[in-house]
Amino acid sequence: MSQSMSSACQKWLEPIALYVDNELDEELCRELEAHLQHCPDCRLYLDSLNKTIRIVHATLREAPVQLPPDLTERLLRVALKQSPSSSAQQAEEEGDT
Ligand SMILES: [Zn+2]
Repeated sequence: MSQSMSSACQKWLEPIALYVDNELDEELCRELEAHLQHCPDCRLYLDSLNKTIRIVHATLREAPVQLPPDLTERLLRVALKQSPSSSAQQAEEEGDT
């Protein structure tokens, strides 16, 4: 059986994701860096996340075709329809003005 990460590490999963995006709070940043110094697990996680993000960014930059803006909109609408929340109800209320 594989051992799961300790709870101390689990609380860092989200900050690490923000960290690679340069969106982490400066204070948390320092806390995270201190944790990384003695936690190889989180260093590994940060490293793999960094690589993934670099690949995604490179792919986006080198994409040969730009997606038409209305395609993004259509995809969003499909995604909203599939969500289990009551977005249909909200739409009804908005249309009733
Ligand atoms: Zn850790």
